[in-house]
Amino acid sequence: MRGELARLAREGQRPSQLFLTCADSRLVTSMITSSGPGDLFVVRNVGNLVPPPGHESGDDSVAAAIEYAVDVLGVRSVTVCGHSGCGAMQALLNSEPTGARTPLQRWLRHGLPSLERMADGGRRWARLAGRAPADAVEQLCLTNVVQQLEHLRAHPSVARAVREGELELHGMYFHVGEAQAYLLAETGEEHVFDHVGVTDLSA
Ligand SMILES: [Zn+2]
Repeated sequence: MRGELARLAREGQRPSQLFLTCADSRLVTSMITSSGPGDLFVVRNVGNLVPPPGHESGDDSVAAAIEYAVDVLGVRSVTVCGHSGCGAMQALLNSEPTGARTPLQRWLRHGLPSLERMADGGRRWARLAGRAPADAVEQLCLTNVVQQLEHLRAHPSVARAVREGELELHGMYFHVGEAQAYLLAETGEEHVFDHVGVTDLSA
């Protein structure tokens, strides 16, 4: 590891991926993605949210990281990774429209479009391949990944790089109890999270 870090210090970072996930302590990004130093540019926040660009009092921290990763580092892919038992999704489900606004409640407003998407009867629900979602929280965790990817696509640097074929976007769901990652496959209006067979994360 020491030699690898010395090389990275000399040559600088050239990560190929931007990985955006929740701040939850049970998510260890190197374990989920089998990555090491220099591989991933990582953004973590409560609920793996991507505020849309130009949003009134939008979030410059996430937008800056996206711009830097795509325009300066030239990453080839961006992954938004949600997870089971997400406290942010639970809080969103329990949220009431009125009341005091703490920083946490203000931040969670970027998850409201995910709630609205789930409530929209005209859309097919995002789902897991092989089994039904355990409960409303799991359904929202999946829907939130799909919704936040949509916010991501609206960022100008992302939109341009995707248009030019230089960038791929991925959705991921990590089930903590199963130690299992699911990758999002999109076909038209269908959003299915498929088991990732190649990495045995429980090993
Ligand atoms: Zn979470």
